[in-house]
Amino acid sequence: MLDSDETGEGYIFGQNFDYKPVKYAIVEDEDPDTGQTQKLAIFEGCIVLGTAEEVAANAAEVRQAADADPEDPDVSHGVGITGRRYRWPQGIVPYVIHPSLPNQSRVQQAIAHWQSKTKIRFVRRTSANASRYPDYVNFRVASGCWSYVGRRGGKQDIGLAGGCGLGATIHEIGHAVGLWHEQSREDRNSHVRINYANIQPGREHNFNQHITDGDDYGRYDYGSIMHYGATAFSRNGQPTIVPLQAGATIGQRSGLSAGDVAAVRAMYPNLEPSRSWLGTQFTGRLAGNQERTWFTHSWPAHWHVDWSVVPTSPMNGDIEFKTHVQLQTDSTRNFGSLLKYFITVKNRTGTPVDIEARYHVLGWVR
Ligand SMILES: [Zn+2]
Repeated sequence: MLDSDETGEGYIFGQNFDYKPVKYAIVEDEDPDTGQTQKLAIFEGCIVLGTAEEVAANAAEVRQAADADPEDPDVSHGVGITGRRYRWPQGIVPYVIHPSLPNQSRVQQAIAHWQSKTKIRFVRRTSANASRYPDYVNFRVASGCWSYVGRRGGKQDIGLAGGCGLGATIHEIGHAVGLWHEQSREDRNSHVRINYANIQPGREHNFNQHITDGDDYGRYDYGSIMHYGATAFSRNGQPTIVPLQAGATIGQRSGLSAGDVAAVRAMYPNLEPSRSWLGTQFTGRLAGNQERTWFTHSWPAHWHVDWSVVPTSPMNGDIEFKTHVQLQTDSTRNFGSLLKYFITVKNRTGTPVDIEARYHVLGWVR
């Protein structure tokens, strides 16, 4: 948790809200690319809002717009571009690892964890694909563990101090993907109690904001990797956050919880199969009274695919028409397990008929 006595007041922008006032800490940071020291505006201990300069400039713009029209401060147009958080297109997060970052394997392990649990995919940004991926994450050394929230545009750093382990790296990637802190949800007071008496003086602002943006899907999740630990910003080692539910524990940093995975799926609905995903796998022709078996391409085994075969040419006489779907595991691929569907179609009419095999992805199981 990064903090300092120096604080500022600004505004943040999200996918689901225009702007919210926040208080942040101002922390010194050295950029390994430039060797320059800069000041970062750090929110809730590990969320970077920008350089202190950028955030102050945005805040001034917001206040100016609010002064001009207090009823409708249309600030989203003025400052939205630099501040507004976006999703990563197609859930693809291009990244580089700064050569000077120690213990790079924690980054690879964190990425592997994300890819095993979600549909988010991480692509190494190289000189060959750089023009395709103008927006990317740069994992680099820092004095704490921190990240921006969501896709910010251009190069955005994830800072990892030596003490930031695998769990912290998974957590910071969560911010870059678009997750805020679990205990900042609107409904958090129904689930945890903040013990202000145990918070270091001057650090209360880290507990005061209710910022949710996509991660408030589903029930409050004590087991979220995006939840503060019980003693965050404690001045005496005593809990600053107490779960109201008996036996609940908070602050795990071992991996994404089921709730985290569900939140990411809700934030990136385009990566999910849905009822609207309909299509044609193949078309064919059957002679009169012929029976034939086709097989499909390989499909992820955990998808529930509903197949139908329909005639697409006029049929004379008896339109009885038999289809049969048989599954076969294809274990030749090295990712996940895949299924081929064998579809047997029988034309019981005496004349040729054209058919179309259609799929309908109803959902999936994990
Ligand atoms: Zn965090």
